[in-house]
Amino acid sequence: MFKQVELSYGAGDLEPNIDALTIETHYGKHHATYTKTFNEAVEKAGLTDKSAEEILASLDSVEDEGLRKVLRNNGGGYYNHNMYFEAFSANPKAAPEGELKTAIDETFGSLDALKDELTKLALGQFGSGWAWLSADTEGKLYVSNSPNQDNPISEKKGYMPILALDVWEHAYYLNYKNLRGDYIKAYFNVLDWGKIEENYKKVCGK
Ligand code: MN
Repeated sequence: MFKQVELSYGAGDLEPNIDALTIETHYGKHHATYTKTFNEAVEKAGLTDKSAEEILASLDSVEDEGLRKVLRNNGGGYYNHNMYFEAFSANPKAAPEGELKTAIDETFGSLDALKDELTKLALGQFGSGWAWLSADTEGKLYVSNSPNQDNPISEKKGYMPILALDVWEHAYYLNYKNLRGDYIKAYFNVLDWGKIEENYKKVCGK
């Protein structure tokens, strides 16, 4: 049974960057529904012994097209939002250190340059979707975007996501209306790079 991550902050603790009603709706309604629907589909597909990562990496093996689509959309919705909500903090670490910092500097030049890349991808994602920072087992970094609830795991390029930036309108519309760029700036204000360091370590051991 897949469960939503527990929030380590109160719904209002990320204000003014992300407002309480957006967190309550996004986590309490949208993410909750993805999780519930994913669990039902996993049961139906007989995949209860698999991890979410395994399911997302092997969607092709689900023969029923309708069920495959439900697993893709809601498995992504479940997994992506766990990574998204887990990475916020009311007292975020503003910049990465150690191996992740080194990899970011070597790949993108600086943390600001990485944020610019992610912002471009997030703004360039037409309609609903995500921007991602991912890593492979060697620690190599990769930025990308994806529509809907798709996720780098399903691309099967060997990269696992370590940072998830949700640009569905439900992530920002209540507060920022059509101003996705303002929301992206606010997202980085409450993003805890300590959490991204942990995710990086889980993928590559560094
Ligand atoms: Mn969302």
